[in-house]
Formats: sequence, structure tokens, C-alpha cells
Amino acid sequence: MQRHWFKGDTHLHTLNSDGHLHQYELIERCKKLGLDYIIITDHNYDTVEKSYSSDGLLVIKGQEVTGDNGHVNIWGENVGFKPPYDLSNLDAYKKIAAKAKENGATISVNHPFCSNCGFLLDLDDMPMDCVEVWNTIQHSDNIKNLNWWVDKLNHGIKIGAVGGSDFHRDYAKLDMLARPTTVTLAKSNTPEDILAALREGRSVVTNRPDTSMIYLSVEGAQLGDTIKLNDNSFLVGDCRVTKLLPGHTLKIFNNNEVVYEHKAYFPEKEHNAVFEIRNKGYIRAQIDYDFTPALKKVYTEVEKRFLKGSGDVPTFFWAFTNPIWID
Ligand SMILES: [Zn+2]
Ligand SMILES: [Zn+2]
Repeated sequence: MQRHWFKGDTHLHTLNSDGHLHQYELIERCKKLGLDYIIITDHNYDTVEKSYSSDGLLVIKGQEVTGDNGHVNIWGENVGFKPPYDLSNLDAYKKIAAKAKENGATISVNHPFCSNCGFLLDLDDMPMDCVEVWNTIQHSDNIKNLNWWVDKLNHGIKIGAVGGSDFHRDYAKLDMLARPTTVTLAKSNTPEDILAALREGRSVVTNRPDTSMIYLSVEGAQLGDTIKLNDNSFLVGDCRVTKLLPGHTLKIFNNNEVVYEHKAYFPEKEHNAVFEIRNKGYIRAQIDYDFTPALKKVYTEVEKRFLKGSGDVPTFFWAFTNPIWID
């Protein structure tokens, strides 16, 4: 069956928790950004009783189950308990996750390594379909999320990586909505198909709705698929990237090994990569970038003030794909 790309934001707040917009204002703004789907996830509250479509924008029911030990998004169906929730220990989180799963919901652990509200229990032991690798505009906690997820991939563990803007409101002139955007390869724009694609790891997470996109495939296999690699043979991968900016570096990984690298020195509308895959495991792509000196200065202050970081400015990712599995 033919799949299509749908742009979305998986993590949004409204006036029903600590957001600053009414549900309908938020929806209008998402339409203007050209999003295809959104999941509204207020803290411990179902703003959307039942998923619906508004002028082509799919609005999926969701809730951010929120406690001092961590935040977990429950998408598509009911949590199954009434707040206030018992979130005192890992078993309590597992109990909520199990009940929500029983109801048909999708579970995503949010911003697990956030300096301020990360997941404080044993993350390796927490059941999840997805993990929010990229939360809000880019910052160094997201690199910790990515490293944790990549370690899971290296162990053959399949968890769908997603992004969520965690939108509450804009800050000064900074537009925070759909940053990042999760672009998902789904059978159709319905709650069932979008959530299945998120769970199956068929998404690309990119900085904004209108920026770089990565189309990675291996001999017909697409993100989330598994393709067979015969012994003493190789597969040919194909990667088309749009809207590369100066300073962007495209990297393609076969497990932890970089099998293709390209740095853009001027804006490139499109870049095409062809490469060989010789190892079983997975293949994935990522675009990295460094801040300009002026932005570096600003960011150093942000790190120190809000993220308890050292102020060192790392290399960030601008976009990344979920893997194609090589068996
Ligand atoms: Zn949260
Ligand atoms: Zn949130």
C-alpha cells in the first residue's frame, strides 16, 4: 500500500493546562503552518474527547500524564485512570502504561533527559512505544535523549523516535509551534494510521515544518521496514535531502559507522546520496549543524541559566530519521 508523508506536532498544550491558547486558536495556527496532524496533550487532562478532523487537520486525542518522576504522553485513547494519578514509583507508571495500552493507546516517554523535568526512574525498564528524542527548540538535553535512543537501536531495540514542540506559548519573537516537526510516513491521515506509523518508527524529525527533509530508502525498503542482507553481499541505500543550509552536514550511519558524509557550503535545494550497506543492524540519517558565533554567545547563556549545563555549545542535529532495519 502506498504511504504518504504527514507533518505533525505530537506534544501541545492549551488553556486546559498551562498553555496560553484556546484549543481552537492553537488549531488555526497549526493549519497556517501547513500541519496535517496534531496531538493535544494537556497535563493530566483530555482536551480532545475524541479525535476529529478540522479542514483537513487531524486533531488526535492525547494527554501528558505528569508527575514529579516524569512525563509520559498517552495518545489516541483513554488513560484509564482518573487524576490525580499515583506516579510515586516505576510500578505506578507501568500500571498506567499497561492500562492505557489495554485501551489501545500509544505510549511515548517525553523529554527523558530534560534537566528540569526528565524521567527520574529507570528509563530502561519503562515500557514505551515511542520516545520524544527532540523536545521544543533545539538544546543540549535533546542530545542526551538521542544518545539514549541510538544506544537502544545498537541493541536492536525498536522504539519510535518522535519530536514534540511542547508548545505553551511563544517567547518574545521566537515562534515555538511545530519546532520540531515530526513528519510521518503513514498509510493515511487517520488517528490509527498516524499513531501506527509513529510506533513503527516511520518518522523524520526536522527543525520546522518548512525546512530540510530526509528521504531515506534501501532498495525499496522505507523507514521502519526491515530488509534482508545476504552474507558476503551488500545493499545499496539512497538518500535525498532537501533544503540543506550552509554549515549543515548530512551523515548516514550503518549502526555507529558513518557510511556517507556531506557538508553543505552553500544552500542546496536538493542533495542525493548513494551508498553501500555492508553490516546488519540498521541504517539512519541525520543532519548536524553548528551555531554561528553570535548565536553561540546567546546559547551559552541559555545553557547556563536554564539547563544547568556548562555553557559549552555542542554540535546539534537539525533533522534525523528513524532507522531502516538490516537483517
Ligand atoms: Zn512534559
Ligand atoms: Zn508538555
